[in-house]
Amino acid sequence: MPRRQTFEYVGLLAAALVLALMASGTPLGRQIDKDAYDWIFRAYQPPDWAPQSILLAIDEDSFRKFGGVVRLRNMVAEGLERIAAVSPKAVAIDVVLADEGNPADNDRLAAAIRKTPNVVLGSILVSGKWEEPLPAFRRAAAGVGHFYTDDLVSREIPLHKVGAGLDRRWTLALEAFRVGAGKPIQEIPPDLAIGDLVIPTAPPEYMLRIRYRPPDRPVPQVTLGQLVAQPDLASRFAGKTVFLGVTAQNAFDSKQTPYGLPAPMPGVEIHANVFETIANRLFLVTAPRAAALLFCVLLVAAIGVAFAVGSGWQAYAIGAVVLLMALFAPYLAFTRGVVLEFPAPVFSAGLAFVFAAAYKHFVVRKRMFTAEGDKSRYQQAMHFVTHEMRTPLTAIQGSSELIGRYAMTEEKRKQMAQLINSESKRLGKMIEIFLSVERLSAGQLELKKEQFGGMELMTACVDRVRPLAERKQIGIHVEPGPDAPLVGDRELMEYAFYNLLTNAVKYSPPSTEVAVFAQRDGERVRISVKDQGIGMDQKEVRKIFQKFYRTKKAEESGEVGTGIGLSIVEQIITQHGGSIEVTSSPGHGSCFTLVLPAQKVNSMVESN
Ligand code: ADP
Repeated sequence: MPRRQTFEYVGLLAAALVLALMASGTPLGRQIDKDAYDWIFRAYQPPDWAPQSILLAIDEDSFRKFGGVVRLRNMVAEGLERIAAVSPKAVAIDVVLADEGNPADNDRLAAAIRKTPNVVLGSILVSGKWEEPLPAFRRAAAGVGHFYTDDLVSREIPLHKVGAGLDRRWTLALEAFRVGAGKPIQEIPPDLAIGDLVIPTAPPEYMLRIRYRPPDRPVPQVTLGQLVAQPDLASRFAGKTVFLGVTAQNAFDSKQTPYGLPAPMPGVEIHANVFETIANRLFLVTAPRAAALLFCVLLVAAIGVAFAVGSGWQAYAIGAVVLLMALFAPYLAFTRGVVLEFPAPVFSAGLAFVFAAAYKHFVVRKRMFTAEGDKSRYQQAMHFVTHEMRTPLTAIQGSSELIGRYAMTEEKRKQMAQLINSESKRLGKMIEIFLSVERLSAGQLELKKEQFGGMELMTACVDRVRPLAERKQIGIHVEPGPDAPLVGDRELMEYAFYNLLTNAVKYSPPSTEVAVFAQRDGERVRISVKDQGIGMDQKEVRKIFQKFYRTKKAEESGEVGTGIGLSIVEQIITQHGGSIEVTSSPGHGSCFTLVLPAQKVNSMVESN
């Protein structure tokens, strides 16, 4: 690729990257990210682990047995009383215990809390202030956490929440883990640590992604109703961390999970899953932004190289592979506990693919067009060589053969030699003119800036054409008038004049007149060649400057021609800043007028 194209190409790819990153930051991009996360969550079956927590669930049946929500504190007390003896590791109670309640119930619950090891209660943030459990409960408990869960679909949880006065609570599950482990929580931003366990978290509030147990193997649970009916079920709570809370369908704190279950998950079960994530070290770490960005850059670069180096289908195949890698990388990362954002890499690879393919398509096409242009120009050159050059070549060939083969008078021999000489000169000139015009139109040649009289040059051309005209008894009449002072390439201009004159003679019947005259028109000079020949209609006039175009009448006239001459004349005249006017009508002759800028007076002075 040329330098400029490389620059464009790399710029285009960079634009694809920037656009992709911007798009992934839009609300739609973020939603796609979440959907992809949930999809991967469902697709990936993690290795099973032995749960370290258990739910003590207050379900509809338990409500019915105990007499409804007004008896909630009694239900919690009952549950604690029944499992206290088997020594659970800790008990997290996911029930708000902030309001007054009735004294008898409160006393019973406070006693139950006191008797059970490591009870953790929860508080809620109400307009920035913590609403605490009643003091009697709090004194009896080992800790107080917070109940907060994030978002509509609960994917992650803030491990701490800060209320007014920098009063901070750990989330219920972490608080339960802390009291169970008997070790303090250390802050080593961005992470947290308890003993030798480091919990990788993300700002702003020590965010932790929740690793949910699969729907077919949920956190085990025993309902209060079952426990009352079969008291030995209490043994299942031994050594476990218990999450005690309401699972009845009308539980207000239910949230959807990435698994997209038919019913949302009760808050108490979400807390149990948070606990499982921490206790079993099943962390899902978000890939650092820089790493994700690097991945995007690599994808774009891979696609860029594929399209720059690979041939058609290869580039597409490699591009498709890279795109698939972008699609599956988040899944692969997830299986290793790393969460890679989904939209940025996929958008980057996708846009880079489209941009690179489009660029390649257009550049290749452009190259093909230029190649085609080169080809047709070459063909035209060949055409020109074979047609225009044949006449002088035939003359040279014939004359030289005659000289070699036959004895002839000295005078005849001289004549032949002169003919060969003049025809080969003509040939050389033709080649030169053709090449000059080609180079001029390709912008490779600068026009010569000679000063000469237009009419003087025209008269010289007329003298050259006269023998041709005389054969058809055509008189060429140069009207006296002002000489037209011109600037430019004398040789090219001579070619143009000569061409107009030979055309006028060629396309006129015998015994007619050709008139040549010049006019001054302000800054311009007009030089006309007028004949009484076959003429053309307006449609034909519009086409005669096209290469190889000849009118039907011209073909029928028996005059040899290639249809190239006028196209070269037009190029020469336009390169000189002029134009050609043609008036003609069939059977009534034509008039070709060259309109050219006149030499400026001061430049004439300079030349003197
Ligand atoms: P050529 O004369 O070799 O065919 P030109 O490019 O010089 O090619 O001219 C293109 C065509 O324009 C001619 O074939 C002819 O049909 C038409 N033409 C040019 N000059 C005249 C003229 N003076 N009178 C009528 N037709 C002309």
